[in-house]
Formats: sequence, structure tokens, C-alpha cells
Amino acid sequence: MLSRSELQGVVSGYLERRQDYLDIAAKNQVPLYLLESQILRARARRFKQAFEDSVAGPVSVYYAVKSNNHPEVARILLEEHFGLDVSSGQELEVALGLGAEHIIFSGPGKTDKELSLAVQYASRVIVLMDSFGELERLRNITSSLNKDVRCGVRLMFNAKGLWCKFGIPTTDLGAFWKATGRCRHIQLTGLQFHSSWNLTATAQINYIQDLSEALDQLSESQISRLTFIDIGGGYWPEQGEWLQPAGTVAGKILDALGQGDEGDDRHYHLPAISIEEFARQLGEAADTYIFPRMHCRICLEPGRWICNDAVQLLISVVDKKAPDLVITDAGTNAVGWERFETDYFPILNLTRPSLSERRCRILGSLCTPHDVWGYAYFGEDIQPGDILMIPAQGAYTYSLRQRFIKPLPKLIKI
Ligand SMILES: *Cc1c(COP(=O)(O)O)cnc(C)c1O
Repeated sequence: MLSRSELQGVVSGYLERRQDYLDIAAKNQVPLYLLESQILRARARRFKQAFEDSVAGPVSVYYAVKSNNHPEVARILLEEHFGLDVSSGQELEVALGLGAEHIIFSGPGKTDKELSLAVQYASRVIVLMDSFGELERLRNITSSLNKDVRCGVRLMFNAKGLWCKFGIPTTDLGAFWKATGRCRHIQLTGLQFHSSWNLTATAQINYIQDLSEALDQLSESQISRLTFIDIGGGYWPEQGEWLQPAGTVAGKILDALGQGDEGDDRHYHLPAISIEEFARQLGEAADTYIFPRMHCRICLEPGRWICNDAVQLLISVVDKKAPDLVITDAGTNAVGWERFETDYFPILNLTRPSLSERRCRILGSLCTPHDVWGYAYFGEDIQPGDILMIPAQGAYTYSLRQRFIKPLPKLIKI
């Protein structure tokens, strides 16, 4: 269970700034996404500092643009000396347009057109190749453009299930290196892996150990040509994962048995470690498994950890249909998925603030019953016209928003 006092601590932190939020809501039209640049910058600095303090070698941080693709987020992070991690030609164009000088391009199924764009801007882009087929196509493109490109190769983190779509099997590293030797414009200078959704560093540390064994496929002189190991993103924010009953294993089983229930004011908590602890443990793994074999840069690709806390969603109550049922002006098309059926975030009634949580179904205005914000709110009461805030909606919401029925909120930056 999520502890009440921990939850109230988080809520009271936001309520201290209640008047600021209400002023912004009054000046602009709700619903809106509120991007707080100070929070974003503070997250960026803390992340960078943690790894610079704990890794015994140079560190480069690339923001994973897909986690929040508003250009202003990337622009601010460029000012904080981040590079950008893009996953498509479209994201690459945005990164180039913002003037980014350090871009990595990863992802499966890069098209010839996308690869050509990367090669054209080869001084600013490192291509993280995803397969032997991609290597072959990149070879043809670099030959016809007569341009060199710096590359890495993505290694398959998890061969189970559909995660096998990413990268090459670790056991193919030697063969891949050999194939790269036939491509005179391609400089293979690094290795990448990425594991998502890490509440702790265990999976990443285990993989770093496997990676060090995989290096046995390469000769010492090949290893010495590697300039970076990219250990990916997937760092979970330290508040952990907060779940509705339906998001728990028990809740999923009950749902499968047809006995699922709507949520209530019970919240569940999967704890996560702090970013300093991630950095300490991964720095230690690098000391044990990487640095004894090579001198290289450690690259990181955080998305969620950086942008999650930097955006709050402000909406308002349109209709009160029963004492325990209200409808809001926005729908969950603003976050793009049925997030709050399984994920719990507190809903703060800024107009009638309180540190106690009251049960009430808070539903959006889309014509679907899956349009849920939550089953309780922090407030004295709830009435039409009240301004509600759902904090920490910066990651995998804005990028996933849908044009569905209701207009999308505007993004306001402070
Ligand atoms: C999505 C993604 C990330 C970012 O993951 P987060 O969980 O948002 O930190 C980093 N690297 C790659 C290759 C990704 O696909």
C-alpha cells in the first residue's frame, strides 16, 4: 500500500504552489498542460550530477525525445547540455532544427530516407544500428553519398517475447563487427542496450555483466576502437509506481475472472530506488565489468525520469451528476491512453484544497466509459467550475495524445 503520509507529503508540496497554479488557470484557458521549466532543469541537473559523480569516466546524457516530444522540452534540455536520442526521421528533423550537435538515432526499422538524413548530418548524428539488414542499407547509402558515419550497434536486451524486435543477439556481436569491416564508410565505435521500466538497477547490472562476456567475441584491438557504451534509459522516478487496485497482479486476475471492480481510495506502491542509487550501482558495474577492458564514455538515454515531474495537467469540472460522480472538460485523449484505469495519480481540487482524499468518480467528457481520471480527489468538496490538477503528467502523455472527440489542451510554459 502507498503510505498516506508519503502521499500527503507529495500533495502538500503541490498545494504550497496552489495560488500560482490557480492564477495560470485563470489567465489561460483550461484544460492545459503546464510545462514547468525550472522543474525540468532541476531534474536534468540532478540526473547528470548523479552519474558524473558515480561513473569513473566521461558521461554523456541524451534525452529520449519520444517520452515528451514537445520541442520546448528538448530545447531546454539542450541548454542543459544534454544530447538528444531520437527514434525516427521526424524526431531527427526536430532535433536538427533545434540546432542539436549531439544526436543519437536509435530504433528498429529505420527507412532509407531516415538513414539518408542521418548520413547527411553525420557530423551531428551517431546511428545506432539495429540489424544486419540495416547495416547493409546504411552501407549502400554511405557509398552513394560518399560520406562517413559514426555508428554503434544495439544489442538485444531481452530475447523473450516481443522485445526481440530490438537490436542484434549479443552472440552475433563478433559476426556484426566482421560485417562492418566490409563497409568502409561505417565506423563502428560503440555498443548500446536499453531496458525499460527499471525500478531498480538489477536488470541493467546483469546485462552489463553479460556484455562483458560478449566482448570476448572481439579482439583486443577491436575492443580498443570502441569509444562508448550506451546503457540506455528506463530509470523509474524514485516515488515508484503508484497503482489503482486494477493495476496490481491481484486486480488483473480478478478482472480476468470477471470480478474486476472500479477503483477506490486504496493505492498501491511499487518502490523504486533514487537516481543517485542507480548511478552508484551502475558506476560500480562499469568499474567491475567495463573499465578493466576498455577506456570509454558511458552514454545514458533517460526519458521518463527527466520529464515526468515537469508537466502538470490542469482541467476543470463541468458537470456534477451525483455526489460521487463528476465530469471534466478534458478527456483522457489528452494523455492518449487509459492510463488512470491502472495508474494512480492524486487529483488535487485546487479550488477547494484539502489534505484529505474523498471518494468520487472523476471522469472525462469523451463518449467512452474508459475515460477515467481517478476515483477520488484531494479537496473539501467538488463542484462545477472547480480547477483540478493532476500532477506529474510529463512522460508518455503529451507524445501519445490523441485527436479524439475533444480538442487537445494547449501547452503553457512557465
Ligand atoms: C524509450 C527509450 C528510452 C527512454 O526510456 P525511458 O523509460 O523513458 O527512460 C531510451 N532509449 C531507447 C532506445 C528507448 O527506446
